Amino acid sequence: MNSPMKNNLEETIKIFDIPQDRETIYNLTNENCNWVNDLLNELNEEASDEGALTLETSMNIEICLRRRFSDNYKDHIAVNATIAGNYVTTCIRCLEATVLPIDTTVSACFLPEALEKQEEFLETEEIYIFDTQMDLYFYKNRKIDIKELLHENLFLSLDPLPLHASDCKGLCGMCGTNLNTGICEHIL
Ligand SMILES: [Zn+2]
Ligand SMILES: [Zn+2]
Repeated sequence: MNSPMKNNLEETIKIFDIPQDRETIYNLTNENCNWVNDLLNELNEEASDEGALTLETSMNIEICLRRRFSDNYKDHIAVNATIAGNYVTTCIRCLEATVLPIDTTVSACFLPEALEKQEEFLETEEIYIFDTQMDLYFYKNRKIDIKELLHENLFLSLDPLPLHASDCKGLCGMCGTNLNTGICEHIL
């Protein structure tokens, strides 16, 4: 049974605050949640151009939390998240500020720290649990840093070599003219 959407989630979650055996769903945005706004600002910091500041960006994160107990895994937590929106970055060829989509999902299971040294987990980064394959994490002190989890997954999902358009012509290597919008004497 699903509870209504919530929009208040602290960046550090105490695992026993998560209801057992049911889904709790949060809908967080850069406008209703400070730490989501921080995540968006961290993405936008990659943009060097001052014009970047005037471009509109946004982030929307839907998070589903579940806690279960089993004899094998004790209290374990499923975190499923969908991250969407837009951020501003710098085109690596023409150096123009450009808005690109954010679109990624996170599927993570947190087990107790005490299980981390167990042989079955030493060589694995995934676990089949909650009827699906999930990235494996371990919680410490009965807490999960949800911001850190999303930050890590978000940055891995970004294009490391962003282009404002796939056919960007870049800048003239001699005079720096933006060849998307002009020509110069160095180009035949
Ligand atoms: Zn470009
Ligand atoms: Zn030139």
